[in-house]
Amino acid sequence: MAAPRLTVDEYVKGVLAGDRGVLSRAITLVESTLPSDRELAASVLTQVQGKGGHSFRLGITGVPGVGKSTFIDAFGMLLADAGHRVAVLAIDPSSQVTRGSILGDKTRMERLSRDPRAFIRPTPARGSLGGVARATREALLLCEAAGFDFIIVETVGVGQSEVAVHSMVDFFLLLMLAGAGDELQGIKKGIMEMADGLVINKADGDNRMRAKQARAEYETALHLFPLPPSGWSTPVLTCSATEGEGLGDILAMVERYKAQMAEGGWQAGKRRMQAKEWMHETMRHLLEADFLAHPAVQAAIGAWEMKVEAGEVPPTVAASRLIGLYLQALSGQTGH
Ligand code: GDP
Repeated sequence: MAAPRLTVDEYVKGVLAGDRGVLSRAITLVESTLPSDRELAASVLTQVQGKGGHSFRLGITGVPGVGKSTFIDAFGMLLADAGHRVAVLAIDPSSQVTRGSILGDKTRMERLSRDPRAFIRPTPARGSLGGVARATREALLLCEAAGFDFIIVETVGVGQSEVAVHSMVDFFLLLMLAGAGDELQGIKKGIMEMADGLVINKADGDNRMRAKQARAEYETALHLFPLPPSGWSTPVLTCSATEGEGLGDILAMVERYKAQMAEGGWQAGKRRMQAKEWMHETMRHLLEADFLAHPAVQAAIGAWEMKVEAGEVPPTVAASRLIGLYLQALSGQTGH
């Protein structure tokens, strides 16, 4: 049985006080799609907005098996030892299909999950990616309000979720393997282009030389991409998550990025842009949901789909007609 809902005030006070139990329950609330929960969640988010401290948001992606959880476990401990309060949120798009979760298992980060300085939260294995991305964004705000100053958002690098994560973090880190081949790793050029840092994991034992070689190759490949306006050029590093080697260099890279991005106001600009994009994305989602749920649309959409499938009507015409129907029904509703 799910725990009963708290009042807005209880959520807000608990989250701002850094109470983990309440934080967990607040995240469950923002994950809910029930209209009454959405309303409650909106009130809570509005009240904690801007009340938290500053946090750094690190996105991490890579294919299953690259070592994400091992890396986050080790890197998270390093961050905690450096005085950070670390929260880890995970998006796992695969679980929608398989009903099993690649990322959702807490025991994957054994040390970090037992450390009182850290908070680990897997995303539930349900809902559309858009819905999961929204819930993760809101969970991120709640973690910030609860005083976590270093937030890691993890996702499996196999699909669309990287784009969603990229749009909510300050630094996007791509974990790679040496010698596996880009295609085998399923890493698209577009994902590499989005990365602020590239790290080749498992640079240990026999793999050390290959990792070095891969590093040089990726550096060359990245040179082909144009520099962003901030002038940050994506570094390529190697590490061993199991041996703990190279993690300090990764932290130094992130710190260097922070300093460079703060200097020209790039960091604040990036956040502003992300907030605006989020607003637009939410509008698209809300509009689409309202449109599809409208009785006038529901009554007509099947017939239009059939006409489009039969090649009788161009898809764009069918879409316009349906939107027309929707707008007409809306104006009828409001009595205009
Ligand atoms: P994830 O699926 O990306 O989260 O990958 P995991 O962290 O679960 O790691 C997959 C496997 O690779 C596990 O057996 C890890 O022990 C192993 N692994 C992770 N990092 C390293 C590393 O730096 N070196 C070596 N040799 N093995 C690693």
